[in-house]
Amino acid sequence: MNAPPIEPGRPVVFRGGTVLTMDDRGTVLDGADVLVLGERIEAVGPGLPVPEGTAEIDASGGIVMPGMVDTHRHMWQTAMRGYGADWTLTQYFVWYYLEWGKEFRPEDIRTGNRLAAIEAVDAGVTTTVDWSHGLRTPDHAEAAVEALRSIPARFVLAYGNIHGAPWEWATAPELRAFAERHFSGGDDMLGLQLAFDVTGDPAFPERAAFEVARDLDVPVTTHAGVWGATNDDGVRLMHEAGFATPRTVYVHAASLTADSYHRIAATGGSVSVSTESEQSAGQGYPPTWALRSHGIPVSLSTDTSVWWSGDLFSAMRSTLGADRAREHMAAHARKETVTHCHLRADQVVAWATRGGARALGLDDRIGSLRPGLKADVVLVKNDASPVMFPLVNPYGHLVFQAQRGDVHTVLVNGRVLKHDHRLVGVDLAAARREAAATVEHLRGRLGEDAWRQGMNPETAAPEILDNPYTYTDFRTSATHGG
Ligand SMILES: [Zn+2]
Repeated sequence: MNAPPIEPGRPVVFRGGTVLTMDDRGTVLDGADVLVLGERIEAVGPGLPVPEGTAEIDASGGIVMPGMVDTHRHMWQTAMRGYGADWTLTQYFVWYYLEWGKEFRPEDIRTGNRLAAIEAVDAGVTTTVDWSHGLRTPDHAEAAVEALRSIPARFVLAYGNIHGAPWEWATAPELRAFAERHFSGGDDMLGLQLAFDVTGDPAFPERAAFEVARDLDVPVTTHAGVWGATNDDGVRLMHEAGFATPRTVYVHAASLTADSYHRIAATGGSVSVSTESEQSAGQGYPPTWALRSHGIPVSLSTDTSVWWSGDLFSAMRSTLGADRAREHMAAHARKETVTHCHLRADQVVAWATRGGARALGLDDRIGSLRPGLKADVVLVKNDASPVMFPLVNPYGHLVFQAQRGDVHTVLVNGRVLKHDHRLVGVDLAAARREAAATVEHLRGRLGEDAWRQGMNPETAAPEILDNPYTYTDFRTSATHGG
């Protein structure tokens, strides 16, 4: 039995849930309500009176929380979901940057974006930064926007183009026209950033792109501290030229020294940590341990579904695990024992919600459940799951127990986009057909051999050491006796 649909514009109240407000005091309310009127949160508290005709959602046994915010996702790559599961960063660069990224047509960008947008809503991610670096023509950019506009969730288009130099595409008149056409209204449902990386070239050619961003009054997001690609030089150049600002979002920021973290912290920038990506692709160790010690604000991100999951449950879980793993290993190296973990579950939930809102300059609109804010609200509840009870520690439950299938209801800007575990008003069959068409197109362009090779990179030679407890003639100088 599915609940009847809730019409747009109708007041909604979540009744009797465990409410994580994510307000400044970290208030958690048991058995409380959240009332939504129009686009906004009207009230939060127990036993709220509501207007006649309000749709009542039973939140008992569930967690009501702010919609999650993903600050870095290459949505256009979603039609290649899972293809690069065994890649390294090098293989990713070769496949997308050098060989096949140029085969993506505007409709393929639209397809990936739309599927990623639907997937985000389904997983309780109500705001996503589309780090859209496949925009090699104006038609590609139009297709990206069209897809984001077609799903009524909140997005920021981070405009980029890996097939051109940022000082060329950012200064082209087409970019300014595009920005004026789509982003002049101050709409908080669709924002704009510029997305490009700073290579560390001492001539700092990226300066021209930063100047365009400043001129357009849009933030820059940049992959920083990526092993083998970007390093301290890029951060230093940005800082020295005055382009490191509180609105700058540094992605990964993993392979950096203290000098870069000091520059980021001193200028008020934030870091988007993609733990699943960093620990698998090779940008560097997920840097929350360093960001914590430098007082740098953190948000979480999923990077790309060509390898990893596009949900922030996975991001929260992997981030907490990576941070703790490093803390334990560092202590063991000193012959010490960690008796109290520094990073806590409530902190990663805050990073996944309010941290993202702050990074995007939207803290006065989203990221917490406070009266007057925009109603981006998620109910995590699943009465059919043995994992959703008992609910004794809501932060810990979200991070280590719950998953995207437990997302029961999602509101964005007051509108119900998912209810009773079902997406509302989404044509999933059409998205499936589009994805199949993109896969067919790319597969045809690559040919069967290249398609298979791309998905199955050669494995490294096995490294199994000689074992002294087995009887064997094999000896090496590296093991027991040469
Ligand atoms: Zn990225």
